[in-house]
Amino acid sequence: MAELEALGVSIMNGYARVFGTMVRVELPDGAPEALLEADAVIIAAGAQDLYPDGLAPDGEQILNDAHLGVLTRIPATTLVIGDGSIGFELCHIMSLLGSEVTWLVPEDAPRSFVAPPVDGYLTRLMERQGVRMIPRTSVRRLNADGEAVHLVTAEGARYGADVALLARARHSDPTVFGLKSEDLAADIYGQTKLRGVYLVGDALNPRTTSVAMAQGRAAALHAVGRSSGPAETSDIVVSFMKNPQVARLGHIATEGSRNSITVSLTESLAAYVENTLDGFLNLAWDQTGRVIGALAVAPQAAALLAPLALAMRMRLRLEDLADGYGPHPVLSELVAQAARKALVE
Ligand SMILES: Cc1cc2nc3c(=O)[nH]c(=O)nc-3n(C[C@H](O)[C@H](O)[C@H](O)COP(=O)(O)OP(=O)(O)OC[C@H]3O[C@@H](n4cnc5c(N)ncnc54)[C@H](O)[C@@H]3O)c2cc1C
Repeated sequence: MAELEALGVSIMNGYARVFGTMVRVELPDGAPEALLEADAVIIAAGAQDLYPDGLAPDGEQILNDAHLGVLTRIPATTLVIGDGSIGFELCHIMSLLGSEVTWLVPEDAPRSFVAPPVDGYLTRLMERQGVRMIPRTSVRRLNADGEAVHLVTAEGARYGADVALLARARHSDPTVFGLKSEDLAADIYGQTKLRGVYLVGDALNPRTTSVAMAQGRAAALHAVGRSSGPAETSDIVVSFMKNPQVARLGHIATEGSRNSITVSLTESLAAYVENTLDGFLNLAWDQTGRVIGALAVAPQAAALLAPLALAMRMRLRLEDLADGYGPHPVLSELVAQAARKALVE
């Protein structure tokens, strides 16, 4: 904050609504509304939450991920409702903390929506952690009585627990910030049909922090007439969970694709040294041998893929990666190992 203020940025707390390049700000404590006008308005106000089966958190016993801080102790029993990467993450954290987790999943099996090969892997991990999965569930009623939560499914099955955690999905609806739906279409810089009004980050399309930052920078440079190009987000690593971490970059190969290779963590001595034998790295390339994507489940998987993101940006090929020898024994050596193996096969 101090750094921004030193650059001449004025910071105002309040709820903003945008009317063209005019911004109305509702200030806290009943202070009169502020009206601001600017040559450019960059809306980075995030996405809206969507909960399974139209449920909503109460912030006390029916919680979302952002509410976990209200818990004063680890609940003995937890219901997790809904899947997606957040559903996996909630089950992972609560079961590791020692809570007995029942996971109500809408389909036959939970989906991360990150990459299909990850789903089966993480589902087996959750089962090993003792998470009880109830597939094909939709919730008819969920209520809390101060002591416990009580859930009834559409089929009439009943479940109870100390708390219920809702896995939220995110969608962008910039009309809540005052924009009209006919003005929303954004160009490559995020500029809407209203000249000078930009949408960036989750307000444009919910993805990740790095994507939001790249889009914010591109919009700001464009707004001051110093654009060097739109945000390049195809080579940004997306990750979730902690240990193991799931990380994805660019294009994910379809199962059995001839232009991809999967290596187990056990192919690196580091996995034995650090006792992290469970996980894999998948590397994908195009017909010319150029690296186009990767997927990893490993401790610090995002760091494992970071050099590959640079390789993609520099349009490197398998041969370039195969020539490299990194520190040993370190998991990152798997990248060059995978490239060498791909060239041999
Ligand atoms: C549970 C969870 C885990 C995640 N984990 C990861 C992760 O590990 N790595 C990763 O890269 N990404 C992760 N993400 C995604 C990441 O959080 C978002 O992509 C990122 O925060 C988007 O940044 P943003 O600036 O666009 O929006 P936000 O970070 O949502 O910021 C929007 C801000 O605008 C404020 N605001 C909203 N409306 C108004 C208004 N009208 N007036 C004024 N202010 C307003 C909000 O209060 C908020 O402070 C996760 C998301 C969730 C929900």
